[in-house]
Amino acid sequence: MNMPYRPLGASGLKISALSLGAWVTFGKQIGDSTARKLMHTAYDSGINFFDNAEAYADGEAEIVMGKILQKAGWRRSSYVVSSKVFFGAEGDRPNEDGLSRKHVIEACHAALRRLQVDYLDLYFCHRPDPTVPIVETARAMHDLIVQGKVLYWGTSEWSAAQITAAHAACARLGLHAPVVEQPQYNLFHRSRVEKEYATLYRKFGLGTTIWSPLASGLLTGKYREGIPPGSRLAAPGLEWLRDIVSGPGAALRLAAIPKLAKIATELDTTLPRLGVAWCLKNPRVSTVILGASRVAQLQENLGAIEIVERLTPAVLARLDTISRPVAE
Ligand code: NDP
Repeated sequence: MNMPYRPLGASGLKISALSLGAWVTFGKQIGDSTARKLMHTAYDSGINFFDNAEAYADGEAEIVMGKILQKAGWRRSSYVVSSKVFFGAEGDRPNEDGLSRKHVIEACHAALRRLQVDYLDLYFCHRPDPTVPIVETARAMHDLIVQGKVLYWGTSEWSAAQITAAHAACARLGLHAPVVEQPQYNLFHRSRVEKEYATLYRKFGLGTTIWSPLASGLLTGKYREGIPPGSRLAAPGLEWLRDIVSGPGAALRLAAIPKLAKIATELDTTLPRLGVAWCLKNPRVSTVILGASRVAQLQENLGAIEIVERLTPAVLARLDTISRPVAE
């Protein structure tokens, strides 16, 4: 398997088409030795981007990743690592979360310490913060870039209007503008990436590092018969996520799974590979961030690269017919 690399939007950064994220797994659901094996399997397969955030396991995910990076001794130039600021890592006093200049800068320093790196390649605003002027956040990001602590900044789950406002402020004040957005994108969650952001790709060359390509595992088919023990939806603390199998529209999405599985079989592949390959097929996607609690899952999902070419316009049209009516 040859890992393709894509430009991160209009920036000069080259990012592997598949990447690996730490949410739920690192520092929480899986042991450190599984986390290490996942990162080595990823790196050896050509993955060059590892995604993290201050909030993942309250900072523990960054600590685990930092130790693995340190021990692996990979050239710093050979990988891209991110953090995200907004939800906070420790403490719940004022200014310990959000996008104020104080928290953006303190959270960056904390992420650098936990990840044991001198700079973050990508630093995301994990959500918009309506209590802080966008210009304050943009200037804090710009200053971190000028100081060499961050190379590129971006947003996650910001509206098109908010991203446009950030660009306007940066253009007006001569600040480094955001180059990337991290939205959810999968067969069951399409509209923001496909419709809302359409003008942003043209106007700003926005790159995307998309999350939950398998809708937290739903698109693997594992939840067809209920919630298996040991799976993400069975994990304590993630009760809110169970809406994807029991909330509004869930029955329709579950009913779509066998139809998708039939197409996967016809293409001589598996459901997880089909779901990931479908995300890869969208040229607006710079990288698909994979999540895995086992090495075998990662190996399985890496195989998606090989089936992208099987997704002909006719196959994509059939997938649209199944997913569009049930997708958000
Ligand atoms: P997915 O939708 O791909 O879900 C991954 C989970 O699905 C795995 O942990 C595993 O869970 C299950 N799974 C994956 N592959 C298989 C397989 N082949 N067979 C069976 N089960 C499988 O991605 P994530 O939701 O994990 O998102 C990926 C990354 O995106 C995160 O790690 C994070 O970095 C980022 N992210 C960013 C967000 C943001 O707000 N910016 C929000 C969410 C994620 P299990 O084995 O436990 O059932």
